Amino acid sequence: MHIALIAHDRMKDRMIALAGEFAPTLRRHQLLATGTTGGRLQRELALSVECMLSGPLGGDLQIGARLAVGGVQAVIFLRDPMTPQPHEPDINALVRACDVHNIPCATNPAGARILLQHLSAS
Ligand code: PGA
Repeated sequence: MHIALIAHDRMKDRMIALAGEFAPTLRRHQLLATGTTGGRLQRELALSVECMLSGPLGGDLQIGARLAVGGVQAVIFLRDPMTPQPHEPDINALVRACDVHNIPCATNPAGARILLQHLSAS
């Protein structure tokens, strides 16, 4: 599967912790990520990640475009619900694309954990 990983700045430490915990599972899949999130996953966990642009520069849109043509099968998008984001329209577009194409999308750590547990068991 192709799995997209995205975390807003205040959620990035939680993404790293979660991805570290599930690293053996994630290594069995093709990972793509927005730029800053992907850079940290590569550096700190040595995961192989295809990095898009940073989110505010269009990375969420790149992932959404890939997803719309069948290139992404799951999304973990740790959004920061407490901080306004300059690229809010892009975030909404990606989550909408997930809904349009019926792609599982976890937008908080609890949902992400359930998705990763499911992937670990399958
Ligand atoms: P980033 O983008 O990983 O480049 O920080 C995430 C986002 O804000 O959508």
